[in-house]
Amino acid sequence: MKDDNFLRANNARHMWHPMGHPGEAMAHAPTIITGAEGSVIEDIDGHKTVDAVGGLWCVNLGYSNTAVKDAIAKQLYDLPYYSAFFGTSNPTAIEASYAVREFFAADGMARVFFTSGGSDSVETCLRLARQYHRIKGEPGRTKFLSLKKGYHGTHFGGASVNGNNRFRVAYEPLMPGCFHLPSPYPYRNPFHETDPAVLAQHIAAAMEDEIQFQGPGSIAAFIMEPIQGAGGVIVPHETFMPLMREICERHGILMIADEVITGFGRTGDWSGSRHWGVQPDMMACAKGITSGYFPVGAALMSEAVAEVFEQADADGAIFHGYTYSAHPVGAAAVAACLEETLRLDTKANAGPRGAQLYEGCVALMEKHDIVGDVRGGHGLMTGVELVSDRAAKTPLDAEAAKRIHKATYEAGAMVRIGGNNIMMSPPLVITEDEIAQVLSALDAGLSAV
Ligand code: PMP
Repeated sequence: MKDDNFLRANNARHMWHPMGHPGEAMAHAPTIITGAEGSVIEDIDGHKTVDAVGGLWCVNLGYSNTAVKDAIAKQLYDLPYYSAFFGTSNPTAIEASYAVREFFAADGMARVFFTSGGSDSVETCLRLARQYHRIKGEPGRTKFLSLKKGYHGTHFGGASVNGNNRFRVAYEPLMPGCFHLPSPYPYRNPFHETDPAVLAQHIAAAMEDEIQFQGPGSIAAFIMEPIQGAGGVIVPHETFMPLMREICERHGILMIADEVITGFGRTGDWSGSRHWGVQPDMMACAKGITSGYFPVGAALMSEAVAEVFEQADADGAIFHGYTYSAHPVGAAAVAACLEETLRLDTKANAGPRGAQLYEGCVALMEKHDIVGDVRGGHGLMTGVELVSDRAAKTPLDAEAAKRIHKATYEAGAMVRIGGNNIMMSPPLVITEDEIAQVLSALDAGLSAV
């Protein structure tokens, strides 16, 4: 390992970082994280903070789970890689597929297709949705519906169903045939509706209208996050996802739940869909599947979807996959991570700690006028929307948000800023004292502007 001077001197000089301006990273070098323990990260200067981001919504088990680390290390020696293409398999992939299927059996999921991350999982669901309809004799079903404010990764399909403008514009034209409905976001929506139950009805009506406009027989799938994450933690009314489910079913449209963030306990239940009492047709997963210890994702299919492929003639063959699909080391990470997730019952801690974080943020709203809205209350996903004028809901400018981030970090908590939102998704094993530290650091951060 190179020494600290080398690392500081070369920080952002050769590597382009995801989701940022390379020139800006050169001018203001990223913080170098050198170590972590439990829910606490340490930077190159020895400054320790509670990681309220959980890596990137992913380190559900915290940084010190030795069972997962040992499983990964052992697998590296047993079999570091073998392909799952062309008639070969490996023991840990078999074990992991069983574990994932069991984990989501209550969601009606029956088959697992491994990928290397969330974007891959979304892409897999979108592609297989088209193929599903083609096998069923409806090749005209090619379009996709999704929600504004939704985040579905960075591949062209995922970016096309993505509902956040800033992830789209530079890469236009995106995939044709993708249409976006309003987000179930009571704080800002085109209906000026603040009652989330009524808003859910409006969006359901908009969905019906769009389906009739496009032609029901032209739509392959509707994709949504059970709770929108990167869009700013947008929690729909409990009726919303069931309403969307009913509309999809009535029109033969597959429902894809993007559970990349919400899966594996983050919402206080094992899946976000289960939280709302919905069984989707497909699920996209990643992040908590390995707690971020190894890059793995999975696309899951219901029994009914699986049967269409399995009982088809040659059309059922899946000409889609990744070199690292069912990677043996990744699979070992999955199997160990899910075993630990169940053993520690991480969803049980996500509930009360999530409530503590959410209620603490609501209290901060009383104190700081720049907090316009606080969202969450369902497990460890909390969003704080920043405004410069509360009555006018004017979004706080990016420079001020950056100052809040810096001051919060200095006071002891790493949070994430996206647009004018602060987003928090700490490890599911976080303690009461650590949440208290996050809240006091955030208080200090908000006082900085
Ligand atoms: N879907 C959702 C809901 C996500 O939050 C993310 C990542 N934050 C993705 C897809 C893409 O996952 P990845 O970054 O692993 O490709």
